Amino acid sequence: MPNSGPYQPDNIFARILRGELPAHKVFEDDVALAFLDVMPQSDGHTLVIPKIAARGLLDMPADAWGPYMARVQKVASAVKAGMDADGLTLRQYEGAAGGQTVFHLHFHVLPRWEGVGLRRHGDAMEKDDVLKAHAAKIRAAF
Ligand code: 5GP
Repeated sequence: MPNSGPYQPDNIFARILRGELPAHKVFEDDVALAFLDVMPQSDGHTLVIPKIAARGLLDMPADAWGPYMARVQKVASAVKAGMDADGLTLRQYEGAAGGQTVFHLHFHVLPRWEGVGLRRHGDAMEKDDVLKAHAAKIRAAF
């Protein structure tokens, strides 16, 4: 997958958006889709992607930010409540040098608990039944 140049419609998140690949979805409307990260840095680690084809922050049309960030906030609220977290960390990696590995804009929503550190970015796959259980908790919190 090229890490510079135009948006690539065959990136993993575009394929999840089109329903070509499975995901544990927790939220979807006309603006955004949210689903669990398969290599969670904390339990309930959720990704929120816009439906607009933008590689990253710098490619997103300025007038699309308001609606998209409103969804990020809505999902963050459900993630915190559903996972009974003490707090949240939000992250966005821009470009390969910035740590981005999938080139469709996304915000990471990471539930946090006092005294519990984050696992490494993109380190280990979580079991499908664990992801399924976390997604159910988050979906129930909207
Ligand atoms: P980035 O490094 O681009 O900010 O984050 C990409 C994220 O996508 C990583 O945290 C990685 O674990 C996650 N990821 C990679 N492939 C898949 C996939 O096929 N499905 C899901 N749900 N997450 C993925």
